[in-house]
Parts: sequence; structure tokens; C-alpha cells
Amino acid sequence: MEYESRLVQVVSTGYCPCSICCGKDADGKTCTGRDAYLEGVAVDPSIIALGSRIDIPGYNRGSNSNGSWILADDVGGAIKGHRIDVRFKTHGEAKKWGKKKIKIRVWTKK
Ligand SMILES: [Zn+2]
Repeated sequence: MEYESRLVQVVSTGYCPCSICCGKDADGKTCTGRDAYLEGVAVDPSIIALGSRIDIPGYNRGSNSNGSWILADDVGGAIKGHRIDVRFKTHGEAKKWGKKKIKIRVWTKK
């Protein structure tokens, strides 16, 4: 499978699978059915396709199952336009990420 990449400037925030971040119906799964305790990113699919591979500077959970890239595997009510929500295991880590403007590289299937 061939991928092409582009740079996208986004505002990023952090979230985790907890009920504070995901509401009382949080079920530990992303919208694509993936385990929400794995690393991943919520995106606006009109800007970044679900299934894209994303390089996010500064995001390293140390146990990334994919290597250096992170899978776009979720969406969010507040994630519209050039916004991403980077997923962590714990609420503390998500808070620590804060809110920052970053440039990410997005790899999508050709
Ligand atoms: Zn949380």
C-alpha cells in the first residue's frame, strides 16, 4: 500500500478513555471499535481521514504498538476542522499535554 504525506497545522489537545473526557457512555472503545487504551488520535474526518497515520511531535507513550506513527482512529464532538485530540492512558497524562499548536505529518493511502 502506498502512502502520501502532507504537513498540517493543527491545535492539539489531549484526552483519555475516562468518563470526564468521553462522557458517561465511555466504553473503552474508539468510534472505529479500537481499544481506547491504545495510542491514537481523534480527528475531523473531513480534514484527516480515519485510518491515516500521523507523526505527532512530542507524543511518545513509550509503548507505541505501531512504531513512530499514530493511527487516526476516533472522532470527537469538539474536534472540528484543524483540531486533533491526542489519546493517553490516563487523565493526568492527557491534562499534561495541554493545548498546543503543532505541525503534524499525515500519511494517507494514495
Ligand atoms: Zn480523561
